[in-house]
Amino acid sequence: MDCKNLKKFEREAINCSNCGQCVKGPVDPFRPNPVFSEYMPVKICPMHEEAEMLTYSANGINAMARAILEGTIEVDQDVVDAFYKCSLCGHCETNCGEVFHWIKTFLGNDIGDPVRTTDVAKAAKADFVKAGYKLPHKVQQIADAIDKEHNRFALDQSKRTDWLPEDIKPVPGADVLFFVGCVGSFREKEIARSFAKILHKAGVNFNILGEDEWCCGGPQLLNAGLPDRFTIQARHNVNAINASGATTVVCTCADCYRTLKLDYPKYCDDMNFKVLHSSELIAELLEQKKITFDHEIKKTVTYQDPCQLSRAAKVTEEPRTVLSSIPGLDLVEMQGNKEYTMCCGHYPVELPDSTAIAGKNRLEVANDTGASTVVTACSFCKWSLSNAARTESKDFKIMDITEIVAQAMGL
Ligand code: SF4
Ligand code: SF4
Repeated sequence: MDCKNLKKFEREAINCSNCGQCVKGPVDPFRPNPVFSEYMPVKICPMHEEAEMLTYSANGINAMARAILEGTIEVDQDVVDAFYKCSLCGHCETNCGEVFHWIKTFLGNDIGDPVRTTDVAKAAKADFVKAGYKLPHKVQQIADAIDKEHNRFALDQSKRTDWLPEDIKPVPGADVLFFVGCVGSFREKEIARSFAKILHKAGVNFNILGEDEWCCGGPQLLNAGLPDRFTIQARHNVNAINASGATTVVCTCADCYRTLKLDYPKYCDDMNFKVLHSSELIAELLEQKKITFDHEIKKTVTYQDPCQLSRAAKVTEEPRTVLSSIPGLDLVEMQGNKEYTMCCGHYPVELPDSTAIAGKNRLEVANDTGASTVVTACSFCKWSLSNAARTESKDFKIMDITEIVAQAMGL
């Protein structure tokens, strides 16, 4: 097999010492941090939680990647499928960073950079695809739907704007463009509706791409080892946004946000706009007093940091600032928060079993806080955690940050 992509991450795979802390944790309870709970043990790796075998973990992925590069294992469909079990949540990378930090601090050995297992996994998948291995059925189905219909649900693009409240009209040429995302447009529509209402009430003119918005392509194509197909989506969206004249693009979905903000610039060097997450824009509007909360929300709420927002894009404070500003709301923290957040499972369709386990594990931790509501800031988190709450008959309300903000604004 030609390992063109994986070779670029050979150093990563070699740097993995098989210590296994990416599965167990916590690693460094001595590192000074104001929130000690961030370092308490939580269940880290969704695929390991499901399989309970080290093969299905960052440790296993890096060991397999090394063996593939050294030619000591034959790649077969089982090996390929193991790589597709990874949710790419990146929790292993945070823990791995703790291992490297600890060794450097206490032993004085600079052993290089922590292992970026998500890059190793994505590179290996791209090589598997080029070598002609089959994608898991659901992954293939969704990738084909995106090629054909430009959304993950294979629905007619004309339905992309069905969520839009009748009394709110997008403004062509507006500075702000709301990139709604497939899940917000077709499934978790209340997130999109709430955000549109917030912008409208705050007096922010905004545009949308409507039928011209294509799936961002991050979670379904780039993560699946299909960078060529991803590039088509990215190119189309960047062209459409540039043509709209918008200078700020806002995403409510953490996956879209990560993709547009961190991945698109690697494929498109002509982006004439900046990318914000809804929580960042809401925090700005609060600061500018364009948003006011005149409705008390007497609830104990905990916040689920979406992996792609907190770990990948380092946005952790704005959602907390927004939630803490709501009168009556008591914000309590879960173990495993900010960059140590637990994955919601990420793929309710592609990886239903590990996503169900991850959701259940996260709600158990949420339960320990005494909160009645879990607020998140990502369409996939809302989808996965709502499924878990239903399946586990947990009496939690799962809300997006836009929904609770809209409530506090009386919308
Ligand atoms: S990825 Fe990092 S934490 Fe995991 S086994 Fe390798 S070195 Fe250890
Ligand atoms: S990215 Fe997440 S699912 Fe993948 S190996 Fe790391 S912790 Fe496990």
